[in-house]
Amino acid sequence: MKASVEKVVFDNGGAFIEETRRDVHEYLASGRTRLRGSLLLYAKAPVAIGLSAISWALLIFVRPSVSVAVLCLGGLVLGALLTAFCVQHDANHGSYFPRRRYNHLLGWTADALLGFSSYAWRVKHNISHHTYTNIDGLDDDARQVPLARFAPSQEPKPWYRFQHIYIWPMYTLMGLRQQTLGDITAFARGKVGESRLRVPRGWNLAGLIVGKAIFVAWAIAIPLIVYPWWSVLGAYLGFVMITSLIMATTFQLAHCVEEASYASAEQTRDRRPLWAVHEVETTVDFCPRNPVLTWALGGLNFQIEHHLFPLLPHTHYPTIAKIVQRNCTKHGIRYTSQPSLRTALRSHFLHLRTMGRLGIVVEIEMG
Ligand SMILES: [Zn+2]
Repeated sequence: MKASVEKVVFDNGGAFIEETRRDVHEYLASGRTRLRGSLLLYAKAPVAIGLSAISWALLIFVRPSVSVAVLCLGGLVLGALLTAFCVQHDANHGSYFPRRRYNHLLGWTADALLGFSSYAWRVKHNISHHTYTNIDGLDDDARQVPLARFAPSQEPKPWYRFQHIYIWPMYTLMGLRQQTLGDITAFARGKVGESRLRVPRGWNLAGLIVGKAIFVAWAIAIPLIVYPWWSVLGAYLGFVMITSLIMATTFQLAHCVEEASYASAEQTRDRRPLWAVHEVETTVDFCPRNPVLTWALGGLNFQIEHHLFPLLPHTHYPTIAKIVQRNCTKHGIRYTSQPSLRTALRSHFLHLRTMGRLGIVVEIEMG
């Protein structure tokens, strides 16, 4: 792991992570355990991609009735979410296959099926977010100023007082932004957060261009041959906005909540925390006993374990969570797991409301 950008340096050791790595290594010592985890992971890719492909083919080649078409659109949304959570995320971390090129190839489903660059996403997610979690200015996911305020170190603005209300429609638009301006802006800036983003070349450039072309072809150009423009536009916007809302909210429930710590780069520099402890305390698990969400979210409800072991298939996280939680208790590290989706959503809502009000001068009427 790269440990310093802009002089933010973590201590990568410590008894907690050493002990936890040893325990996890022990759990994975059996070849059968590793194989089972990989097979459970592999089974998700054909489900995700197959669901998207069948739903799309029915819409284009069968032209079904309105009610079946709505079901197919639901299939496209679900297929895209499963691709985002259970296929491209693991693959772009390098946890599907031992070889990098196969992981990048499967991770390219982000370009072709979801419309955003997997090349840029690997810098944004694997480096900016995973190394500098919730550090304002370095974690690109923790900064949406001047639209919203997630961290206390971000300057207050009057409109943030309403962010816990307007954030939800804003989340629906993030997918559209990522598919259009998001990637282009990142390449033009040459960095994500403070992490360097080089202009892609060779296979990476080909993947970017071909991926965008495939996405535009299946999502817009081919449907326009079959359906009137207004129904294609409506279906496309509905598809992108719903997937965007669910994806953004899922990612936020792990980090942008009352129980997760935030820090500025300066504070982190001064404290020089243990990296593993920093990851546990800036991240929150949710719904650990919900088997449907645990399957569908690709381990994103076990983000503490994901942040400590991003190279492992997410299918191992529920077992690893017991090890991590036990060692956190032993070493006095705060470990938070929200028992239900309701408590997790409530915590996100309250965090946004608190951040929106923090530092705003309120007029008090006297008399
Ligand atoms: Zn990740």
